[in-house]
This record gives sequence, C-alpha cells and structure tokens, in this order.
Amino acid sequence: MKQVKCLIVGGGPAAYTAAIYACRAALSPVVVEGPEPGGQLMTTTLIENYPGFAKGVDAQSLMMEMRAQAQNLGTEILSDKVLSCDLKARTAELGSGEQLCWETMIIATGASARYLGLESEQKFKGQGVSACATCDGFFYRGKTVAVVGGGDSACEEAMYLSSIAKKVYMIVRKNYLRASQASKERVERTENIEILYETVTKELLGNVLGLTGVRLERNGEIFEKEIDGFFLAIGRHPNTEWLGGQLEVDAQGYIVADGVKTAADGVFVAGDVRNTDFRQAITAAADGCRAALEAEKYLKK
Ligand code: NDP
Repeated sequence: MKQVKCLIVGGGPAAYTAAIYACRAALSPVVVEGPEPGGQLMTTTLIENYPGFAKGVDAQSLMMEMRAQAQNLGTEILSDKVLSCDLKARTAELGSGEQLCWETMIIATGASARYLGLESEQKFKGQGVSACATCDGFFYRGKTVAVVGGGDSACEEAMYLSSIAKKVYMIVRKNYLRASQASKERVERTENIEILYETVTKELLGNVLGLTGVRLERNGEIFEKEIDGFFLAIGRHPNTEWLGGQLEVDAQGYIVADGVKTAADGVFVAGDVRNTDFRQAITAAADGCRAALEAEKYLKK
C-alpha cells in the first residue's frame, strides 16, 4: 500500500492551492484530481474578480496554471478518483484499484451541477441538454437556447451564449434575479436575452433527433418555446458520496467543519464542499492554503 503524508482529493482551486502550500511545507502531497481536473471553473470563461489580473483572466488558463504550479513544486498528481476511504484506518481506494495509506487528508472535491429532475431532461442530455455553456455553447451558433436559473452562474451562461446564439431565454422561477448587481445589469441590457420571470420548466420537448422546445408555466398558464439547447445553471451539489457518511454534513450536504478542520483526526476540508457562505475561486484557494497549513501543524504535533 502506498504511504502518503498528505493526500489531497479534488482538482479545483482549493486542491491545487493546498498542494502548493503542502509542497512548501515538505509534505510531498499527492493529489487525486478526479474526473474533472480544474473543477467548476473549467465550465466558465473570464474571471474578473480574481486578484492579480487587471483585465480579468481566462478561467481555464488560471486553473491549468495553478495545476502546473503545484506540479512544478513537486506535487504528484494522479488522474484517478477516490472511490472510498476509511477515516479511522486512514486508507483510500482509487478507481484504478490502488490503495493509499495517508497521514493527513484534505477533502477538496467541490460540487457538481444540479439538474431539475425531469425525465425528459435525462432523455435529451447531450442532445440539447447541457450544464456547461462554455463546453457546449459552440453547437448553438445562430440558434435559440434557454438557460434555467437566476444566479450568477445563470447570468454568466446567458451572457456567454448571447454571443453565439441568436436568442437566449433565461427561465427564472422568482420575480427577480438572485445574481450580483453587475451580472444583473449585464443580462438586462443584452438585446438578445429575454428573461422569463416567475416561470417554471414543466417538460422538455423533442424527437429522435434531440431537443426542439420547452414547456413552461407562469402563474398557472402553460406555454411553449421553441429552443435548440437547454442549459442548467441552478446551483451545485457537494461531492461527498465517496466519504460514505463518515463526516457530518448540513441540510444541503456540505461538510460541517470548524474552519477547515473536520471532526475526524487529520482530516481537513477546503473549498465548495465545505459548509461556507462564500463559494468563490479565491475563497476556495484560501481554504486550500489554510487546510495545508493545518495539516502541516497537525503532522508537527
Ligand atoms: P445560486 O445558488 O446562487 O443560484 C441558483 C439559481 O438557480 C437561483 O436563481 C435559484 O432560484 C435557481 N434554482 C435553484 N433550483 C431551481 C429549480 N429547481 N428550478 C428553477 N430554478 C432553480 O447558484 P450559482 O451557481 O449561480 O452561484 C453559486 C455561488 O457562486 C454564488 O455565491 C454566486 O455568487 C457564485 N458565483 C460567482 C461568480 C462570479 O463572481 N463571477 C460566477 C458564478 C457563481 P431561487 O433564487 O428561486 O432560489
């Protein structure tokens, strides 16, 4: 069984920052980066609020730079997934079958896109239904698409799609956008974005070739819109299944911790998977730093 001083599970800003700090503390970190290296930021475009970039920074480049920085400092990165772990025995089993024995572990598995839960949504997944505008927007040049959600992610997805598609509907269940003022103003002044407030998605419509429309409801009235693409931006769910319920989670499934310290000895948590009020790249990176420094302190003890 491979012995690891500091195991970092995840592949986003929290994980790579933890690795950078763990390297500098000579903890020889091993990162198991999972199926989505780069994390949620890989599904976005320009980041304007990450300090140090006066003109903003391309999200994917930022993540690849963080990953390279961690690697250059000596992190071992495994393109693998942790299937399960035992927090008492301090072991982890990877998808490849490899077993790791760790002294400290930093959980930084982030969160993944949520879906509405409609049967038709699953039916047209990859045939018109997507949770990533930057990955799939390209296919909708000159077409009509819809984005569901009223937060910052939905606004960003809508803005991105508005530069590709002919028309973008935003389907918002409340009578206001939850997004930041800057995002709100941007979508409101974009001509080819139409915001459908107080509107709920009832069904996605289509045929063997894929999605053709969406059935909606507003104040009891049912109506349909013809669309070619339907993009989900209704939030995320934390990736904790692999922990098998060994740590306390809150009502939304986020890991409960004291700062970045979990209730399990030598186990720390960083980034969007932690129950925190702030889920930004910069707060995830800061968590990663704190978790690595806590791991160092723990090992010194
Ligand atoms: P949010 O939780 O902020 O917003 C989710 C949106 O989806 C809300 O409008 C919510 O509606 C709606 N929603 C949830 N469930 C459903 C459903 N079943 N049907 C219809 N609508 C639904 O998630 P985001 O991913 O937008 O943002 C998460 C965090 O990340 C936020 O803190 C945000 O500020 C941040 N962020 C920051 C960015 C930036 O600064 N550049 C970019 C992207 C995100 P309702 O309001 O009714 O609950």
